[in-house]
Amino acid sequence: MSNSIFSSAALLLFCPLLGMVGAAAQAAPASDDAPKLEHFDLSRVDKALDPCQDFYQYACSKWNAANPIPADQVAWGTGSGLQFWNENILRQALEKAAAETGNRTDYEQEIGDYWAACMDEAGIETAGTRDLKAGLERIDQMTNKSQLADQVAHVHRTVPGAWQSDDNQTRSALLGFGQQQDFDDASRVVASVDQGGLGLPNRDFYIKDDARSKEIRSQYETHISKMLALSGESASQAAGDAKNILAIETAMAQAQMDNIRRRDPKNLNNKMSFEQVQALTPSLDWKAYIQVVGAPSSSPHYIVTSPQFFRGLESLIQQHSVDDWKVYLRWHLVHGSAPYLSKAFVDENWSFYSHTLLGAKQQLPRWRRCVRAADRDLGMALGQAYVAAAFPPENKQRTVSMVHDIEHALDDDITKVDWMQPSTKEQAKVKLHAIEDKIGYPDHWRDYSSVKITRQSYLDNVHQATGFEFHRQLAKIGKPVDREEWTMTPPTINAYYDPQLNTINFPAGILQPPFFDSNMEDAVNYGAIGMVIGHEITHGFDDQGRKFDAQGNLRDWWTEADAKAYDQRGQCIADEYTEEIPEAGVKQNGHLTQGEDTADNGGLRLAMMAVTNKLRAAGKSVDAKDADGWTPRQKFFVSYANSWCQQYRPELMRTIVLTNPHSIPKYRVNNVVSNMPEFQEAFSCKKGAPMVRANQCRVW
Ligand SMILES: [Zn+2]
Repeated sequence: MSNSIFSSAALLLFCPLLGMVGAAAQAAPASDDAPKLEHFDLSRVDKALDPCQDFYQYACSKWNAANPIPADQVAWGTGSGLQFWNENILRQALEKAAAETGNRTDYEQEIGDYWAACMDEAGIETAGTRDLKAGLERIDQMTNKSQLADQVAHVHRTVPGAWQSDDNQTRSALLGFGQQQDFDDASRVVASVDQGGLGLPNRDFYIKDDARSKEIRSQYETHISKMLALSGESASQAAGDAKNILAIETAMAQAQMDNIRRRDPKNLNNKMSFEQVQALTPSLDWKAYIQVVGAPSSSPHYIVTSPQFFRGLESLIQQHSVDDWKVYLRWHLVHGSAPYLSKAFVDENWSFYSHTLLGAKQQLPRWRRCVRAADRDLGMALGQAYVAAAFPPENKQRTVSMVHDIEHALDDDITKVDWMQPSTKEQAKVKLHAIEDKIGYPDHWRDYSSVKITRQSYLDNVHQATGFEFHRQLAKIGKPVDREEWTMTPPTINAYYDPQLNTINFPAGILQPPFFDSNMEDAVNYGAIGMVIGHEITHGFDDQGRKFDAQGNLRDWWTEADAKAYDQRGQCIADEYTEEIPEAGVKQNGHLTQGEDTADNGGLRLAMMAVTNKLRAAGKSVDAKDADGWTPRQKFFVSYANSWCQQYRPELMRTIVLTNPHSIPKYRVNNVVSNMPEFQEAFSCKKGAPMVRANQCRVW
């Protein structure tokens, strides 16, 4: 499962659902207009509003009003222009590689031919379901349920994401299989067996009983039936099959561990021998599965994240006929292949996953879908062109120095807090000083030379790349962990903390305006990218991260009293964020977002401490007005809020609140500043104002 359980520790900025809907849900500009980066600008502030009433509105209402969501987008914010800007750089590299035919390097051949095949819409249309046939025929040949494991293995080997459970445990067909660092010994890699099998965003979508949830399920059933009809079934057959598939997936959803319990790694750390895994699901031939996917025949042990799910799966396999399982596999094959097939498949897939679930009004232009697919499939080759074009060494140096300042601020914070005993403080500092900072891009680039890419078939290229990546992951089982690896490509606008490696990672893609701006003063940069850096560092000490030690082992290094004090502080955050979100029409569960909210609060405070120290060292005060009439501290907070100005379609917002561990931007801004006396001083907010919480929460 690689980092999937903990990818929730990443700061997903723009399209937190990208993993779920693949290249279909987007966040970036509508047309092919020249890309434009946003820069911090104080004239955006609406001075007619009171910052102490609603700081997000104060900082963002003017920008939001002037920048409505484009038709092909489901979200739009100050960072969206950067997404377009990054994609344009990648497009240029891809077009150049595709145009040159002689004298290309191996990697230029691969990215160039991948691009050419993806952009060849006429060729894809002519091919129709040609490249899907072999997979469908293989499923048709299934005559006995004992072949189910072999069949699932073939789907996992070819369909993007089919083997991999994401945060919501949905993308994989039947189950998730992969590798992960051992929870108890982070230096080694073991096999991981995860729950999965769904086509909707998470288990709640199958279980909730409100009118909107029922309506979505009915639309989902119709969508499945349309996709099966496109793949060759008669309309009446497809309708019956869709009903069956929804019933199977609903039973799987009911057997799944919910996403609140999954946040505690102790609940996932179920070590089993191969024999025990086999005994859990006697109807699934695990030996055959492992052989077909090409995993090492043994693992030190297997981590089964949710034994309950596999007990449920066993009874499901027994209950349903071989024909039911054929239909289920057919659906997952067609579903996972749809974005790479002809227009009818692409349109129907977009219509449900982007339009119905997220509210998109129009599809992205083809070139942008191809850029994103190339970034996913060959991103560590393509990323080299991005770094060369967009990430000069001086940007790396300045980021590294900010990271050090902010780590220093957390060290100070740990020294000063009154609720931790010296022994726990000492351990916390050992962990803090062991964090490895990865900035921009990896030191070693991935070798894709074994991936066969041609101009003949886009779907085949995607299958090839999927097989390569799956195999690359599985080959790690039984080996020492590779600490150098990056799980995000360089152009990615995101960042992450990995608790089992104890590393923070900032791809070059986010080290750009409006987050990092080499022409801006420190107060502005610390408010934007500084908060992102502080957020990732804080993840090492949020309610999940604190359970891992400096080496990444799941080990309790807290005294009982300190753990209790921590949990009380964490509960304050969880209570604050458990609230109705009227814009989304649903209530947020603060226990789902607790880790991210803790990281937001800690991140902004650490960035504030770091910039205060920096300005003081230069003989400046954070509270003295500059020539522009603003104090550095005010600019720091405005810059923070500005980097989060972002509007969502209501469908997307509902899906985020129900499934995503991050709060939505308005709350990321207002809930955080209302906990900070520094904010209230900076804007002279009075007690009782909405941005001055009576019961202020603070973990870090
Ligand atoms: Zn995060």
